Amino acid sequence: MSSAAADSRKRRAARACLACRKRKTRCDVARSGMPCNNCRLDGVECVVIKSRRGRYVARTKVHMMSRPLF
Ligand SMILES: [Zn+2]
Ligand SMILES: [Zn+2]
Repeated sequence: MSSAAADSRKRRAARACLACRKRKTRCDVARSGMPCNNCRLDGVECVVIKSRRGRYVARTKVHMMSRPLF
């Protein structure tokens, strides 16, 4: 196990590079960095676009639900 103990286990949306998105292949760019495995194998450029509005923010319109947040 060669983990660097810096494995942040955050539940983010799976990030995939453009090539993987197009091909619908699994992208491990979030884990192993760029280029991802598929791009490295294919020898193509690994491009990841950061989406600015993917932050799961309900626009100030928060309903107070009587449900315990987990
Ligand atoms: Zn990829
Ligand atoms: Zn890639």
